[in-house]
Amino acid sequence: MKITIIGTGYVGLVSGAVFADWGHDVVCLDVDQEKIDMIKKGVMPIYEEGLEELVKKVIDEGRFKATTDYKMAVEHGELIFICVGTPSNQAGAANLNYVFNASKSIGKFMKSGEYTVVITKSTVPVGTHQKVKKNILEGAGKKKVDFDVASNPEFLREGTSIYDANNTDRVVVGSDSDKALNMLESLYKHLNAPIVKTDLASAELIKYSANAFLATKISFINEISQICERTGADVVNVAKGMGLDSRIGPKFLNAGIGYGGSCFPKDVEALYRTSSENFYDFRLLRGVMDANERQKEYFLEKVWNKYGKNLSNIKFGILGSAFKNGTDDTRKSVAVSIIKSLRGAGANLLITDPAALSNTKNELGDKHINYSKKIEGVFKDVDAVFILTEWPEFDSIDYEKFGKIMKKKVIFDGRNLLDPETMTKLGFEYFGVGRKV
Ligand code: NAD
Repeated sequence: MKITIIGTGYVGLVSGAVFADWGHDVVCLDVDQEKIDMIKKGVMPIYEEGLEELVKKVIDEGRFKATTDYKMAVEHGELIFICVGTPSNQAGAANLNYVFNASKSIGKFMKSGEYTVVITKSTVPVGTHQKVKKNILEGAGKKKVDFDVASNPEFLREGTSIYDANNTDRVVVGSDSDKALNMLESLYKHLNAPIVKTDLASAELIKYSANAFLATKISFINEISQICERTGADVVNVAKGMGLDSRIGPKFLNAGIGYGGSCFPKDVEALYRTSSENFYDFRLLRGVMDANERQKEYFLEKVWNKYGKNLSNIKFGILGSAFKNGTDDTRKSVAVSIIKSLRGAGANLLITDPAALSNTKNELGDKHINYSKKIEGVFKDVDAVFILTEWPEFDSIDYEKFGKIMKKKVIFDGRNLLDPETMTKLGFEYFGVGRKV
């Protein structure tokens, strides 16, 4: 099939490369010239395992082009996927300007007399499909265009997105048009995954519901971690005992410093907004968001309790700034938020992250911060080390060896990556989240 991708970020670039790998003829478009120039040279604007090799392969095989030329891109695709960002606006709702601008441009360049399906892959609030359609028609002006809109929410996870795209648990496609649904079904049917064919509104709501549910699971176990800290229970044992119940499952039951990233915070907030706009107060979601904010504060309280709120003579080593492991993405990273609080209190910081150092530097600059490519660099002469991202690399550190170069052997483990008993035996003062020490 001829496929066009609008927006070559984490979702668009991976989807485009994967579709091309499945044998389709793909054009990826972005308004960011620099990004497109990099992709054309085979240099990835984002870090994602296996992406560079895959893009190089599909470019060499002649099935993948990157461009900023809207006319060429829109004329190419019988399926056009909108994959632009939908960040929060100031009121907490999804900012749909990028989606609407893309829709207008699609309408502007859509060829008369050729049937096209315009699919929203970006996460958009329920009901957005009607506005996408309106914007396409506005862009088309007086020209007669033959198209349907569809929703195909994306569930890939940064860090494992190529694997996820090929091994998804399910595909969700929503449209009022059987023709559009059938075309999308034929794109995905080789995947051996259930395809949920549904109406547009349900497809749009599925994505928000899934993300809000996962965020709820995280906030739930974080709330349990608070009870653990007050009663002497250990949240890792509690989560293990809960997660073995097949009705619950073990995933998203790791207590820590809260959820972050470019999706969960904005999607939970946007769903709450959608609910309010429809005259329903989704109290549970309010609790989920509150708990998430408080979880970060509770973690910082451990620091204030130990050192006070003036950290001007204190030096901390920071392991991890990405919002999760496997990515360079620091958007709405809780790690970055904690780093800002520590720096705000006057601490000097040494930061390492296997993939996100450059994004972190762009966001935080150099004031009171040194960046180290080597893990060892953040242990030297520090008063404590913080684990803020759950990179497996941090689990396998030789803490006994590196502990010797620290000024004080103190660990704040915001991801419950380490075993408190082992760390205590090694002579560390250990602070986890809901752990029995
Ligand atoms: P991103 O910010 O990495 O990429 C968006 C891209 O769109 C940018 O490169 C930007 O230059 C481009 N763009 C903006 N306006 C444009 C326009 N008018 N025409 C063409 N290109 C334009 O965003 P992302 O992380 O890939 O997320 C995209 C969407 O997918 C969001 O709605 C997000 O919620 C959703 N989503 C993201 C993930 C994820 O893990 N990142 C997972 C599932 C769903």
